[in-house]
Amino acid sequence: MIPETFYDIIVVGAGPAGSTAAFYAARAGASVLLIEKKQEIGTPIQCAGFLPDAAEIRALLPSAELPETLEKYPAACSLRRIKTQRIIPPSGKQKEFPVQGTVLDRRRYDQFLAEQAVLAGAKLMVKTKVLSLKKTTLETSGAFGKHRISAKAIIGADGPNSLVAKAKGLRWNPDSKETSIALEYQVRNVKIDPDALEMYFGKEFVPGGYAWIFPEGETRANIGVGLRPGMAEKGVSARTYLHRFMQEHPLASLKLKNASILNVIAGILPVNGAPEKTATSDALIVGDAAGHIIATNGGGIPPALIAGKIAGETAAEFVKGKTPLEAYDARWRAQMGAALKTSVQARQLADGIMKSDLLMNAAFKLISPEQMKGMQCGKMPTPVRLGLQALNRKK
Ligand SMILES: Cc1cc2nc3c(=O)[nH]c(=O)nc-3n(C[C@H](O)[C@H](O)[C@H](O)COP(=O)(O)OP(=O)(O)OC[C@H]3O[C@@H](n4cnc5c(N)ncnc54)[C@H](O)[C@@H]3O)c2cc1C
Repeated sequence: MIPETFYDIIVVGAGPAGSTAAFYAARAGASVLLIEKKQEIGTPIQCAGFLPDAAEIRALLPSAELPETLEKYPAACSLRRIKTQRIIPPSGKQKEFPVQGTVLDRRRYDQFLAEQAVLAGAKLMVKTKVLSLKKTTLETSGAFGKHRISAKAIIGADGPNSLVAKAKGLRWNPDSKETSIALEYQVRNVKIDPDALEMYFGKEFVPGGYAWIFPEGETRANIGVGLRPGMAEKGVSARTYLHRFMQEHPLASLKLKNASILNVIAGILPVNGAPEKTATSDALIVGDAAGHIIATNGGGIPPALIAGKIAGETAAEFVKGKTPLEAYDARWRAQMGAALKTSVQARQLADGIMKSDLLMNAAFKLISPEQMKGMQCGKMPTPVRLGLQALNRKK
């Protein structure tokens, strides 16, 4: 594909945020180029794939306008329907609450989202890497050659190591202590509860985060650890923690001991919130690039799509001269800024408690299943906040 040399909007990155932004911008009549460095959209996968149903997202983020693709997607994108979420503290005294959602086939879902953008009129270039950005001109290199392409507005949807954010000075302080790393396996031949998401806590197995078992079928699952390297034992890798979880965890090992590993997946999660500014006069950042992630559970798909819609719509208004691009910043914060901020505060409080299994057990005793559900999406009732603060003072 030989691209034009000029577009209204160029979107860098065809993950959930970028494809959604490209879809809404193209649907509003802008000429849009969507550039993706992967040779196949969605591959390799870097996600466990849990997406709560739209009704759940609406209940937790009532001010957010949900894109259609959070609600309607082909059945083939769904690997397994989920009915329950189970939280297992170090004591093993688990709590659970009902949740309606889907473990997605992220490869198919990402391809579906990109297809929507294309059907709305966006041009797509895969296997094309953006090498540099100066003002609003990009240099690219890849399967279709080297190009210099310009636009009126650039949307950086290029993930946690965003080149657009760096080039535009929109990057938050990249403190590695504030980033979570994740290692996960897609496994077969496991004895799991196929209707429940399970999240396990305990510093022996997963310091500063949680380990999970997300069902992909009756005997198939995505299992993993998301941990903070700064809180891990010196010299102990994520792989060692994940294998320890599979082989030695008193409950999980019973389910996972015969697991066959089909796929190894690694990634990072920016769990330190959004930078102060997410837009300039000619560029904006969205999704992981902008820290749009629920810091307590690493859920980034719903925020990426919600902010992607706002990004695409605002950029399309900008190119028509109707609004400054900076309006994007206040718009996404109005829809989900408070929830994301609270999730970072909850994560910071949890950090103190996660240093001790005793404190963690006490905290889990204190929090009801309903409150846990709320905390998944950035809600922290005052009694929970006060309780966690008191436990933090005990360390
Ligand atoms: C191990 C793991 C498990 C997770 N599990 C869940 C989960 O169960 N549920 C959930 O909601 N969230 C989960 N997340 C988070 C979720 O995957 C992300 O928040 C989400 O993918 C963010 O979408 P995005 O479009 O912003 O970024 P990405 O999906 O990262 O997409 C960015 C795209 O930009 C492309 N790109 C980057 N740089 C360039 C460049 N220079 N040129 C061209 N293209 C470029 C990349 O190739 C990529 O395709 C998980 C994350 C990890 C790491």
